[in-house]
Amino acid sequence: MFYHVKELQFNARVSKPDPKFASMLLEQFGGANGELKAALQYFVQAFPAKMPHPDKYDMLMDIATEEFSHLEIVGATIQMLLGPTSGELKDQADQSEIMDLLKGKEAKEEFIHKAMVNPQFFDLNGGGPGLTDSQGNPWTAAYVTANGDLTVDLRSNMAAESRAKIVYEYLMQFTDDPYVKETLRFLMTREIAHYQMFEAALETIKPNFPPGVLQGDPRYSNTYFNMSSGESYRGPWNEGKSPFLGETWQYVDDPIGHVIQTNGMLDQRPIGTPRTQDDVEKQNKELGKMRSEKIRESVPKADIHWSNYSSRDREPGRNL
Ligand code: MN
Ligand code: MN
Repeated sequence: MFYHVKELQFNARVSKPDPKFASMLLEQFGGANGELKAALQYFVQAFPAKMPHPDKYDMLMDIATEEFSHLEIVGATIQMLLGPTSGELKDQADQSEIMDLLKGKEAKEEFIHKAMVNPQFFDLNGGGPGLTDSQGNPWTAAYVTANGDLTVDLRSNMAAESRAKIVYEYLMQFTDDPYVKETLRFLMTREIAHYQMFEAALETIKPNFPPGVLQGDPRYSNTYFNMSSGESYRGPWNEGKSPFLGETWQYVDDPIGHVIQTNGMLDQRPIGTPRTQDDVEKQNKELGKMRSEKIRESVPKADIHWSNYSSRDREPGRNL
């Protein structure tokens, strides 16, 4: 159940209208890394998490709801940045009150130019934020990644939070308004907080690498192909031990020769790894059993309900 509280989560303020920046800020309203994407991504991910991981359901719904609160803050800020332009331009420009206030042709043209930076505000959305990015591209569900494997979803969310954070960082460079900067800094910081929540949640699910159930073929999990000529770089991504499986990276300097010599990789033998095909099969079976049991145990077969109303204590006279 959603319950709307009239006050914003953060006391968003604007010094003066700035339709140009309002237009840029749409990126975080209806853009690929914006607040609506984040809110709906965590919202849809929460459903399959509910029974096997009630703790993660709780976290995903809390963060989804906070993202809706951010969406509200961004929308409110855009509206404040539009200032009187949103209403006035719906009238015939020359007759509007604000036009009378602007003395001279130049001031008027400058005003129209500013207001029309994103004509969508005025033509399509009736003077408020619409579900588009800053370029007017309509929001799409294709921005949302959710696939029902919680470890995959949590990793997607860490990437999403990183992108959201950096968009705010860029946006902050395009406004001098101290109030707007203050709001953007809050929103940016919350994405830093969320990143860590998702990372911490991922750490509580073990094993979480590789994602899913099936283990990788030990012949191929530690091979690095040098796929270009010229100077090559070495680092922990292609020398020493791999970070999660702890296998020794095998650097293939001549991938074409290697592919031919190994009969298209079929004859490649596992090198630098303690894992064998037998281990892999055993692990696949154990993990598959563990994961499906976890879901079977947690999902009732009859008399299914989502909520348990009596579990929640409600003090009489308390509103929330
Ligand atoms: Mn957010
Ligand atoms: Mn976030």
